Amino acid sequence: MKAIIFGAPGAGKGTYSSRLKEKLGVETIATGDIFRDLMKAESDLGRKVRGYVEKGHLVSDEIVLEVLKERLSKIPKEKGFILDGYPRTLEQAKTLDNITPIDVILLLDVPDQIIIERLSSRRICRNCGTVYNIRFLKPKKEGVCDKCGGPLYQRSDDNPDVIRNRLKVYQEQTKPLIEYFRKKNLPFVTATTTSIDQPPEPIVEKLIAELKKLKLA
Ligand code: ADP
Repeated sequence: MKAIIFGAPGAGKGTYSSRLKEKLGVETIATGDIFRDLMKAESDLGRKVRGYVEKGHLVSDEIVLEVLKERLSKIPKEKGFILDGYPRTLEQAKTLDNITPIDVILLLDVPDQIIIERLSSRRICRNCGTVYNIRFLKPKKEGVCDKCGGPLYQRSDDNPDVIRNRLKVYQEQTKPLIEYFRKKNLPFVTATTTSIDQPPEPIVEKLIAELKKLKLA
């Protein structure tokens, strides 16, 4: 299965793709995670990336493409993958056509109100990147990752001003890609979230059931 997981910031792309990775044995490539790793390093590239991410702007296509190609080249041919966070613009989608075929779009449909509430209470493990929410998806012990014991932190771009910018970028540049993929006749598997405290498991099971129908899982 070569999939793109698609949805607004905070729709749950990271949460669902990491669970699908565990259950289906596919790889995940999350451009946001890659950039957060780069930002930890005091390198020129790390500083450059931080300049974009911390304002809620898109990282330049040149950097994104290099990072993506490098990750994709490490995935064995027979292994499936989920792209999380790429493509984000029409230009990136067209570039992807020349890099790899895609079998399916996993679309996460989440109302804006839920997105904003979720993003402002989201926490991430500094060590392994697992996503929590201090109101709706709590770790067993406050501030500590269930999986690896690492410390939880709030992403620097999960603050109200930057969230507003990211949602604007999503509406203007990324959302129109849904139409682009529809026109390419790619199959869509859609998961709709209706309440803020909806646990992820049933949605993950639904996605897997739909993928099985398409013979992709
Ligand atoms: P979210 O989907 O919650 O906004 P991500 O972790 O996917 O978060 O991305 C965080 C930030 O990384 C984005 O706001 C953007 O600055 C940058 N980024 C991630 N993927 C891309 C991409 N494909 N193109 C440009 N910038 C990107």
